[in-house]
Amino acid sequence: MKIGIDIDNVVVKLTEGFCNYYNLKNLEKLDFENLKGYYLCDSLPITREEEHSLWHEYHDSDNFDDIGFVGNAKEVINLLKLNHKLFFITARHPGWEEKTRRFFSKHFPEDHFNIIFSGEVYGGAMSKDEICNNRGIKLIIEDHNEKGLDYAKRGIQVLLLSMPWNKNCEEHEKLTRVKDWNEILEKIEEFEQGEKTERGEVKNG
Ligand SMILES: [Mg+2]
Repeated sequence: MKIGIDIDNVVVKLTEGFCNYYNLKNLEKLDFENLKGYYLCDSLPITREEEHSLWHEYHDSDNFDDIGFVGNAKEVINLLKLNHKLFFITARHPGWEEKTRRFFSKHFPEDHFNIIFSGEVYGGAMSKDEICNNRGIKLIIEDHNEKGLDYAKRGIQVLLLSMPWNKNCEEHEKLTRVKDWNEILEKIEEFEQGEKTERGEVKNG
């Protein structure tokens, strides 16, 4: 099965890493668990432009290179790759591509994963949900609630990984909340079983 995997806050702890970086340099602390929304400007008195500058500052710092995996993402990815075709899909800034590819080469040196930059926030031609739709991706792991709904509305099964900013996500029959990567693995197995049963039913008329 073709599986889509968002990178930030699904594979890597981008926002948590940012909070740690920010808290080293500022008296006013950012509490990851109690962030008020997906964007930093939801929790800090800054504009979106200032937020962009902060993200780039973090990207250019050495701290960014030590960014950690979300839970046991690495182990589960190593299991999933044995039976599935994985696509890592991100809306990261195109200028982040080099460090992104370096991260994957470092942690998955034997793999040549598909890493796709939608660039949708920066005038890219296609959104992440269009990319999934065009490539026949059946299931995606995502943390952004609105993005999750975009996929769900296209009929793509979404596993929404719980994060402080997606607690109040609108419900959708194609969207399932998961608490960690163990549950992601379970839900993928369930979903695949359901797909097989469905195909069997079609075959038997
Ligand atoms: Mg994300």
